[in-house]
Amino acid sequence: MRRTLIAGNWKMNGSLAANATLLDGIRAGAPSSCDLAVCVPAPYLSQAQAALGASAVRWGAQDVSEHDSGAYTGEVSAQMLKEFGCTYVIVGHSERRSYHAESDELVASKSVRALAAGLVPIVCVGETLQEREEGRTDAVVIRQLAPVISAVGAQLADIVIAYEPVWAIGTGKTATPDMAQQVHELIRATLAKANAGAAEKIQILYGGSMKPDNARDLLAMPDIDGGLIGGASLKAADFLAIAAAA
Ligand code: PEP
Repeated sequence: MRRTLIAGNWKMNGSLAANATLLDGIRAGAPSSCDLAVCVPAPYLSQAQAALGASAVRWGAQDVSEHDSGAYTGEVSAQMLKEFGCTYVIVGHSERRSYHAESDELVASKSVRALAAGLVPIVCVGETLQEREEGRTDAVVIRQLAPVISAVGAQLADIVIAYEPVWAIGTGKTATPDMAQQVHELIRATLAKANAGAAEKIQILYGGSMKPDNARDLLAMPDIDGGLIGGASLKAADFLAIAAAA
Protein backbone atom coordinates (compact mmCIF):
# COMPACT_ATOMS: atom_id res chain seq x y z
CA MET A 1 0.00 0.00 0.00
CA ARG A 2 1.51 3.32 -1.08
CA ARG A 3 1.27 6.22 1.35
CA THR A 4 -0.11 9.45 -0.03
CA LEU A 5 2.38 12.32 -0.37
CA ILE A 6 1.17 15.91 -0.57
CA ALA A 7 4.10 18.18 -1.48
CA GLY A 8 3.95 21.96 -1.83
CA ASN A 9 5.98 23.80 -4.45
CA TRP A 10 6.24 27.38 -3.26
CA LYS A 11 8.07 28.41 -6.45
CA MET A 12 9.67 31.91 -6.09
CA ASN A 13 7.24 33.08 -3.42
CA GLY A 14 7.58 33.96 0.24
CA SER A 15 9.28 36.22 2.75
CA LEU A 16 10.63 35.45 6.21
CA ALA A 17 7.51 36.89 7.83
CA ALA A 18 4.98 35.24 5.50
CA ASN A 19 6.80 31.90 5.66
CA ALA A 20 6.73 31.91 9.45
CA THR A 21 2.94 32.13 9.44
CA LEU A 22 2.58 29.54 6.67
CA LEU A 23 4.99 27.04 8.24
CA ASP A 24 3.38 27.41 11.67
CA GLY A 25 -0.06 26.80 10.18
CA ILE A 26 1.08 23.72 8.28
CA ARG A 27 2.92 22.26 11.26
CA ALA A 28 -0.02 22.83 13.58
CA GLY A 29 -2.60 21.26 11.26
CA ALA A 30 -0.60 18.46 9.61
CA PRO A 31 -2.60 15.22 9.53
CA SER A 32 -0.87 11.93 10.27
CA SER A 33 -2.82 10.15 7.52
CA CYS A 34 -0.46 11.22 4.74
CA ASP A 35 3.10 12.43 4.15
CA LEU A 36 3.38 16.19 3.92
CA ALA A 37 6.28 18.25 2.55
CA VAL A 38 7.05 21.76 1.39
CA CYS A 39 9.63 22.59 -1.31
CA VAL A 40 10.77 26.11 -0.53
CA PRO A 41 13.14 28.58 -2.22
CA ALA A 42 16.75 27.71 -1.24
CA PRO A 43 17.31 30.78 1.00
CA TYR A 44 14.43 29.65 3.20
CA LEU A 45 15.64 26.08 3.79
CA SER A 46 17.13 27.00 7.14
CA GLN A 47 13.84 28.61 8.19
CA ALA A 48 11.89 25.51 7.10
CA GLN A 49 14.33 23.29 8.98
CA ALA A 50 13.93 25.32 12.18
CA ALA A 51 10.14 25.49 11.91
CA LEU A 52 9.47 21.89 10.88
CA GLY A 53 12.40 19.98 12.34
CA ALA A 54 10.48 18.67 15.32
CA SER A 55 7.37 17.79 13.29
CA ALA A 56 6.47 15.06 10.81
CA VAL A 57 6.32 17.58 7.96
CA ARG A 58 9.33 17.25 5.64
CA TRP A 59 10.91 19.95 3.48
CA GLY A 60 12.90 20.15 0.29
CA ALA A 61 14.20 22.31 -2.53
CA GLN A 62 12.97 23.07 -6.03
CA ASP A 63 16.14 22.33 -8.00
CA VAL A 64 19.64 20.92 -7.55
CA SER A 65 22.88 21.11 -9.48
CA GLU A 66 23.95 18.17 -11.59
CA HIS A 67 27.50 18.82 -10.30
CA ASP A 68 29.02 17.73 -7.03
CA SER A 69 30.88 20.99 -6.19
CA GLY A 70 33.18 23.55 -7.75
CA ALA A 71 33.07 26.54 -10.11
CA TYR A 72 29.36 26.62 -10.88
CA THR A 73 28.31 30.12 -9.84
CA GLY A 74 24.75 30.32 -8.59
CA GLU A 75 24.20 26.59 -8.30
CA VAL A 76 23.28 24.67 -5.15
CA SER A 77 24.58 21.14 -4.62
CA ALA A 78 22.71 18.12 -3.34
CA GLN A 79 25.09 17.88 -0.37
CA MET A 80 24.21 21.47 0.60
CA LEU A 81 20.50 20.63 0.49
CA LYS A 82 21.18 17.59 2.65
CA GLU A 83 23.00 19.76 5.20
CA PHE A 84 19.78 21.74 5.61
CA GLY A 85 17.83 18.58 6.34
CA CYS A 86 16.01 18.31 3.02
CA THR A 87 14.20 15.07 2.30
CA TYR A 88 13.04 15.99 -1.21
CA VAL A 89 14.16 18.00 -4.21
CA ILE A 90 12.01 18.74 -7.24
CA VAL A 91 13.82 18.08 -10.52
CA GLY A 92 12.69 18.79 -14.07
CA HIS A 93 9.77 21.04 -13.21
CA SER A 94 8.25 22.29 -16.47
CA GLU A 95 9.22 25.87 -15.57
CA ARG A 96 12.86 24.79 -15.44
CA ARG A 97 12.52 22.72 -18.59
CA SER A 98 11.07 25.66 -20.50
CA TYR A 99 12.76 28.74 -18.96
CA HIS A 100 16.15 27.11 -18.38
CA ALA A 101 16.16 24.66 -21.30
CA GLU A 102 16.62 21.64 -19.05
CA SER A 103 16.84 18.49 -21.14
CA ASP A 104 15.59 15.03 -20.22
CA GLU A 105 19.23 13.97 -19.80
CA LEU A 106 20.01 16.86 -17.44
CA VAL A 107 16.95 15.98 -15.35
CA ALA A 108 18.26 12.39 -15.17
CA SER A 109 21.72 13.61 -14.04
CA LYS A 110 20.16 15.80 -11.36
CA SER A 111 18.09 12.84 -10.14
CA VAL A 112 21.23 10.72 -9.79
CA ARG A 113 23.03 13.50 -7.94
CA ALA A 114 20.10 13.89 -5.55
CA LEU A 115 19.95 10.16 -4.83
CA ALA A 116 23.69 10.01 -4.21
CA ALA A 117 23.28 12.62 -1.47
CA GLY A 118 20.41 10.72 0.12
CA LEU A 119 17.66 12.99 -1.21
CA VAL A 120 14.44 11.87 -2.86
CA PRO A 121 14.10 13.48 -6.29
CA ILE A 122 10.55 14.40 -7.26
CA VAL A 123 10.91 14.00 -11.02
CA CYS A 124 8.39 16.05 -13.00
CA VAL A 125 7.09 14.97 -16.39
CA GLY A 126 4.19 16.18 -18.49
CA GLU A 127 3.08 17.33 -21.90
CA THR A 128 2.30 20.78 -23.24
CA LEU A 129 -1.14 21.64 -24.61
CA GLN A 130 0.15 21.36 -28.17
CA GLU A 131 1.64 17.93 -27.49
CA ARG A 132 -1.67 16.75 -26.00
CA GLU A 133 -3.67 18.11 -28.91
CA GLU A 134 -1.34 16.35 -31.33
CA GLY A 135 -1.92 13.06 -29.49
CA ARG A 136 1.68 12.89 -28.28
CA THR A 137 1.10 12.81 -24.50
CA ASP A 138 2.17 9.19 -24.05
CA ALA A 139 5.24 9.51 -26.27
CA VAL A 140 6.38 12.68 -24.49
CA VAL A 141 6.02 11.20 -21.02
CA ILE A 142 7.79 7.97 -22.03
CA ARG A 143 10.60 10.01 -23.63
CA GLN A 144 11.00 12.13 -20.46
CA LEU A 145 11.07 9.05 -18.21
CA ALA A 146 13.52 6.97 -20.27
CA PRO A 147 16.83 8.65 -19.31
CA VAL A 148 15.77 8.88 -15.66
CA ILE A 149 14.92 5.17 -15.51
CA SER A 150 18.21 4.23 -17.09
CA ALA A 151 20.32 6.66 -15.01
CA VAL A 152 18.92 5.80 -11.58
CA GLY A 153 19.09 2.03 -12.22
CA ALA A 154 18.65 0.01 -9.04
CA GLN A 155 17.53 3.11 -7.14
CA LEU A 156 14.32 3.43 -9.15
CA ALA A 157 12.21 2.63 -6.09
CA ASP A 158 13.74 5.61 -4.27
CA ILE A 159 12.36 8.34 -6.51
CA VAL A 160 8.98 10.06 -6.71
CA ILE A 161 7.38 10.98 -10.06
CA ALA A 162 5.07 13.94 -10.53
CA TYR A 163 2.85 13.98 -13.60
CA GLU A 164 2.20 17.63 -14.30
CA PRO A 165 0.46 18.45 -17.58
CA VAL A 166 2.03 21.80 -18.47
CA TRP A 167 -1.33 23.21 -19.61
CA ALA A 168 -2.74 22.64 -16.10
CA ILE A 169 0.03 24.33 -14.10
CA GLY A 170 -1.07 27.63 -12.60
CA THR A 171 -3.89 27.93 -15.13
CA GLY A 172 -6.85 26.76 -13.07
CA LYS A 173 -7.40 23.99 -15.69
CA THR A 174 -7.12 20.57 -14.11
CA ALA A 175 -6.87 17.23 -15.86
CA THR A 176 -9.99 15.24 -15.09
CA PRO A 177 -9.38 12.33 -12.73
CA ASP A 178 -9.76 9.92 -15.68
CA MET A 179 -7.32 11.85 -17.87
CA ALA A 180 -4.77 11.96 -15.07
CA GLN A 181 -5.27 8.31 -14.14
CA GLN A 182 -4.65 7.26 -17.76
CA VAL A 183 -1.22 8.91 -17.75
CA HIS A 184 -0.38 7.71 -14.24
CA GLU A 185 -1.17 4.16 -15.35
CA LEU A 186 1.10 4.60 -18.36
CA ILE A 187 3.88 5.93 -16.12
CA ARG A 188 3.60 2.95 -13.76
CA ALA A 189 3.55 0.51 -16.68
CA THR A 190 6.64 2.20 -18.16
CA LEU A 191 8.46 1.96 -14.82
CA ALA A 192 7.34 -1.67 -14.45
CA LYS A 193 9.10 -2.64 -17.68
CA ALA A 194 12.37 -1.68 -15.97
CA ASN A 195 11.56 -2.85 -12.45
CA ALA A 196 8.14 -4.24 -11.53
CA GLY A 197 8.76 -4.13 -7.79
CA ALA A 198 9.86 -0.51 -7.88
CA ALA A 199 6.89 0.49 -10.04
CA GLU A 200 4.47 -0.83 -7.43
CA LYS A 201 6.22 1.07 -4.68
CA ILE A 202 6.81 4.45 -6.35
CA GLN A 203 4.55 7.37 -5.44
CA ILE A 204 3.25 9.06 -8.59
CA LEU A 205 1.90 12.53 -7.77
CA TYR A 206 -0.47 14.61 -9.86
CA GLY A 207 0.26 18.32 -10.23
CA GLY A 208 -1.63 21.04 -12.05
CA SER A 209 -4.17 23.28 -10.34
CA MET A 210 -4.95 20.75 -7.61
CA LYS A 211 -7.18 22.52 -5.09
CA PRO A 212 -9.28 21.58 -2.06
CA ASP A 213 -12.36 21.19 -4.27
CA ASN A 214 -10.86 18.78 -6.84
CA ALA A 215 -8.30 16.95 -4.71
CA ARG A 216 -10.59 14.23 -3.40
CA ASP A 217 -11.61 12.96 -6.85
CA LEU A 218 -8.08 13.05 -8.20
CA LEU A 219 -6.60 11.33 -5.15
CA ALA A 220 -9.25 8.61 -5.31
CA MET A 221 -7.78 7.27 -8.56
CA PRO A 222 -5.80 4.03 -8.14
CA ASP A 223 -2.49 5.30 -9.56
CA ILE A 224 -2.59 8.83 -8.14
CA ASP A 225 -0.56 8.65 -4.94
CA GLY A 226 -0.55 12.29 -4.00
CA GLY A 227 -0.18 15.81 -5.28
CA LEU A 228 2.46 18.38 -6.12
CA ILE A 229 0.73 21.60 -5.25
CA GLY A 230 1.75 25.05 -6.46
CA GLY A 231 -0.61 27.96 -5.83
CA ALA A 232 -2.71 26.19 -3.21
CA SER A 233 0.36 25.39 -1.11
CA LEU A 234 0.81 29.05 -0.25
CA LYS A 235 -2.20 29.10 2.08
CA ALA A 236 -2.02 26.73 5.03
CA ALA A 237 -5.79 26.20 5.05
CA ASP A 238 -5.89 25.17 1.37
CA PHE A 239 -2.80 23.00 1.60
CA LEU A 240 -4.16 21.23 4.69
CA ALA A 241 -7.59 20.80 3.07
CA ILE A 242 -5.91 18.98 0.18
CA ALA A 243 -4.01 16.82 2.67
CA ALA A 244 -7.27 16.09 4.47
CA ALA A 245 -8.80 14.94 1.18
CA ALA A 246 -6.05 12.34 0.77
C1 PEP B 1 3.40 23.26 -9.81
O1 PEP B 1 3.99 24.31 -10.04
O2 PEP B 1 4.06 22.24 -9.60
C2 PEP B 1 1.93 23.26 -9.79
C3 PEP B 1 1.31 22.13 -9.80
O3 PEP B 1 1.33 24.50 -9.74
P1 PEP B 1 -0.26 24.80 -9.54
O4 PEP B 1 -0.75 23.89 -8.45
O5 PEP B 1 -0.31 26.24 -9.17
O6 PEP B 1 -0.90 24.50 -10.86
